[in-house]
Amino acid sequence: HIPPLYIITPTYRRPEQLAELTRLAHTLMLTPNVHWLVIEDAQRKTDLVTDLLERTGLSYDHLLAPMPEIYKKKKKGPKPRGVSNRNKGLNWIRQNAKNGVLYFADDDNTYDLQLFKEIRYTKQVSMFPVGLITKLGISSPIVRNGKFDGFYDGWIAGRKFPVDMAGFAVSVKFLLDRPKAGMPFKPGFEEDGFLKSLEPLEPYELELLAENCTKIWVWHTQAKRNEPSQPLDFAKYNNTNLV
Ligand code: UDP
Ligand code: MN
Repeated sequence: HIPPLYIITPTYRRPEQLAELTRLAHTLMLTPNVHWLVIEDAQRKTDLVTDLLERTGLSYDHLLAPMPEIYKKKKKGPKPRGVSNRNKGLNWIRQNAKNGVLYFADDDNTYDLQLFKEIRYTKQVSMFPVGLITKLGISSPIVRNGKFDGFYDGWIAGRKFPVDMAGFAVSVKFLLDRPKAGMPFKPGFEEDGFLKSLEPLEPYELELLAENCTKIWVWHTQAKRNEPSQPLDFAKYNNTNLV
C-alpha cells in the first residue's frame, strides 16, 4: 500500500506534443499508483492527447487551462508558460486529493523511475538535482555533511528558492494546509513564487533526495524543432500534430 503520486503536466499543441507526451506516458506506465493530471493550454481538448491517454490505461484527468489572453498577447519577453495549467492542477488536488505527493512534470523533460520511487515519501517538500539546465549543466541544492548548504543554479536572480520546476515535490497534506499557495504568472519566478507561497518553509527544512543530491534522476530536455524540408501530405499521418 503506497501513497499516490499526483503528476501535474502542462502541455500545449505543437508538432512535438505527441512525441513528448508519449515518452512521459510510457515512463508513468512503469510507475505504480500514479494519477496523471494532463492539463492543456488550449480552448478545447486535442484529440491526439485524448486518444493517447485512453491507450495508456493510466489513471488520469484531462483538463483545460488556457493561458490568459493578457499574457498570450504579450509581444515582449518570456511568457508564463504552463502556469495556468499548474494552478488548475493544484485546484484539482485541493478538491480531490487527501494524501500522497504532487510533482510538476513538464511534458518535455526526461524522468528516471527512481525519481518517482524517492519523491513518493516526501513529508513536506523534497528537492533533488535537475540535469541539462543553464550553462552550469545542473541545478541542485548543495549538500554538505548531509545538510542543506545553499543552492547551485545558473540563475540565482535574488530568488529564495533558485530551483527548476522539475527539482522539487510537495506532500499533498502540506499543500492542503496552505490554502493560499499557488503559482504566480511571473516568468522566471514561478518556482520561487510557488515555494514561497508554501510558507512557512525554509530551505534548511527541505528533504534532500537522490543520495544527498549526488544523482540526477531528471533532465530538463528540450526537443529541437526541425522544419520539414519538403511539403508533406500530413493528412496521411494520424500522429502528427499540426499547429
Ligand atoms: N507550455 C504551455 N503553454 C505554452 C508553452 C508551454 O502549456 O504556451 C507547457 C509545456 O508543454 C511544458 C511547460 O509548459 O510542459 C513548460 O514549457 P517549456 O517546456 O516550453 O518551457 P522551458 O522548459 O523551455 O522552460
Ligand atoms: Mn521544457
